[in-house]
Amino acid sequence: MSGKVFLVGAGPGDPELLTLKAVRAIGAADVLLLDDLVNREILQFAAPRARVIEVGKRGRCRSTPQEFIERQMLRLARAGRIVARVKGGDPFVFGRGGEEMLALRKAGIEVEIVSGITAGIGVPAELGIPVTQRGLCEGVTFVTGHTGDGRAPDWRALAASGTTLVIYMGVAQCAAITGGLIAGGLSCATPAAAIQNGTLPSRKNVFTSLAMLAADMEAAGIGSPAVLIIGKVVDLARIPVASRVLPRVA
Ligand code: SAH
Repeated sequence: MSGKVFLVGAGPGDPELLTLKAVRAIGAADVLLLDDLVNREILQFAAPRARVIEVGKRGRCRSTPQEFIERQMLRLARAGRIVARVKGGDPFVFGRGGEEMLALRKAGIEVEIVSGITAGIGVPAELGIPVTQRGLCEGVTFVTGHTGDGRAPDWRALAASGTTLVIYMGVAQCAAITGGLIAGGLSCATPAAAIQNGTLPSRKNVFTSLAMLAADMEAAGIGSPAVLIIGKVVDLARIPVASRVLPRVA
């Protein structure tokens, strides 16, 4: 009998932002494949018998090619295992969840998607930044600062979009991104923020203007993973007092 794969979004970091469905899928799994952005605190919801495989793609020591991850999932599911493939944020937002779903479908493996809170919404929300706000923007655009294939997003079109810009994977390219947006006509004074490790105790953030974002990020020592938020909604931010129901586990 063939198993099943859950493609689970674990949210931006705080384990309290897991959905009930994510907790159930994690608890049902025989094998968990964890991305490196996933907070290990989620393992408190795993069955004691569950095997944990780290498949992070960044970091100093190891990298797991995408084909290897997909092959592992197929092998485990064909052997009848319940697999939870756990990703940071939402599995379908810059998470390669779509590719994995297609590979599993093609192989005839049952796959269930468990949506999660994407960093681009949950991270600014923690600081009181709504990604849309009537009167301040016409919508929100999620965009990657790092396409992987060398192409850059159309910053001119994005500058003219009237939407809040939420940029994932934009730390390394920040100066090019802000330069592109300013060249595209977005005001230098547009409110901008960079937030690293949002929803986690290690969070770092800067609030500044579009023109100063790259320099202020560098001065504040903000690195990856961080989201860049550009637009008038950034002015609504307030630093929160953290609250928590779950006990912290190491
Ligand atoms: N699927 C994920 C995104 C994966 S791409 C999601 O939906 O959130 C990885 C990028 O997500 C990082 O480079 C960063 O831009 C963003 N990110 C993920 N977790 C974050 C966090 N806790 N704080 C800030 N940015 C985060």
